[in-house]
Amino acid sequence: MSAVIERPVKKLVDGDRVSIYQPEQQGLIYPEVPVFDDVKAHRQHLKERLVAACRAFAQQGFDYGFAGHLTVRDPENPGLYWTNPMAVHFAQVKVSNLICADHEGIVVEGRHAINRAGFVLHAAVHEAHPEIVAMCHAHTVYGTAFAALGKKLDPITQDAAAFFEDHVVIGDEAGQVAVEVKAGHKVANAFAGVKAAIHQNHGLLTASRHSIDAAAFWFIALERCCRQQLAIDATGIAPRLVREDRARYSREHVGSEYIGWLHFQPIWEQLKATQPDMFC
Ligand SMILES: [Zn+2]
Repeated sequence: MSAVIERPVKKLVDGDRVSIYQPEQQGLIYPEVPVFDDVKAHRQHLKERLVAACRAFAQQGFDYGFAGHLTVRDPENPGLYWTNPMAVHFAQVKVSNLICADHEGIVVEGRHAINRAGFVLHAAVHEAHPEIVAMCHAHTVYGTAFAALGKKLDPITQDAAAFFEDHVVIGDEAGQVAVEVKAGHKVANAFAGVKAAIHQNHGLLTASRHSIDAAAFWFIALERCCRQQLAIDATGIAPRLVREDRARYSREHVGSEYIGWLHFQPIWEQLKATQPDMFC
């Protein structure tokens, strides 16, 4: 994994049309994607953001017992992943109780056990897609309910359009506790070129080629979109959909990895200010 992550200034050079990138904003306070020369500092940054992602999941009510796992690839050893400890509430994950595991789910650093069945699913995706640096999975109320329908999200809003042609439904072999191990390769195949998956009868997954920040935000967004679509569907009235070309345009401009990263920054700042025990 490269220590250098794409900086927003590149968007300016590329002439991105979204107004927040316009040159007149330069010099004003604005989140910047960090760049690291030192691998230890990079690792510490990734661990802190992973903890923040777990705390954000707690705030969102994404916990379900010990279910749910978030992973981020180690910056020095790409075959190793940092993840949340088994049977620790998302609200109590901190830098000091994170664990590091290999593809097989063997813990190589940390004091806690790992949810191996769930982790193997992540590991299969990470192994098949070296460019995927972070993943999130949880058994959320609305995402899991929507997943039972076995269908994709419709572009009912600009927010939902962020997932237009950028998510997949993994249709079978889910819904059983032990299936996550067997489903690993199938899930890995499904994640080619998309940022999210709806695993039928199971839950939601997101992956990022950019950051844990982006993976976490797109997970929050995906759950929200599932909730909105369930609400619309419950009316029994067919919604007006965003036109395909506009949905595609929206996805390119508000559904990118960088935009996901940027959306996570206020969440990070709020958690940093209110939950200093994250860094213990
Ligand atoms: Zn699961």
